[in-house]
Amino acid sequence: MNCNSCNGSKHSNFINPKCFFTNAQLSVVKCSNCGLIYLHPRPEKKLGLEYFENAYSNAKGFDKIDYYRDVESIMNRNKSRWELISKLNAPNHKILDFGAGQGYFVKIAQNNNWNANGVEISGEGRKSAKLNLDVNLKSALNELKTSDFGIITLWDVIEHLEDPKQTIIDLCNFFTS
Ligand SMILES: [Zn+2]
Repeated sequence: MNCNSCNGSKHSNFINPKCFFTNAQLSVVKCSNCGLIYLHPRPEKKLGLEYFENAYSNAKGFDKIDYYRDVESIMNRNKSRWELISKLNAPNHKILDFGAGQGYFVKIAQNNNWNANGVEISGEGRKSAKLNLDVNLKSALNELKTSDFGIITLWDVIEHLEDPKQTIIDLCNFFTS
């Protein structure tokens, strides 16, 4: 699998973490041409979706993984993210969280009086956001009523995408349409 950024075919090993979901040894490599660090092979969209449906419904052993379960830690993680973002000079205080998960970041932004929207592909993520936080997430960009956002965030997203470059291009096209 070639580099998603420069299409280079040569890479070196970077790290080998274990997949939460399958317990398989993963391979993260560094492109010898442009230096991009990426999961190799990149996850198929179908597997990516299956991963998050299980993560957000706490199925298939995800109930033992604090990263998706410990609400206090999740809130703290997203408060740190908010600290970072709230310092930026967003022209209209309108923000889109792309890959919004269970909606925690959107909720914190809304609590701080920003006009915050989220897009989340996982139905379980959207269900959890509605149930636990009363946050309404959209399932796709074309469900949004506006593309007039000052900031787009993608927390914990890029590494899960089958084609990150295309996703960024799609986002750019959407926001300039
Ligand atoms: Zn590259």
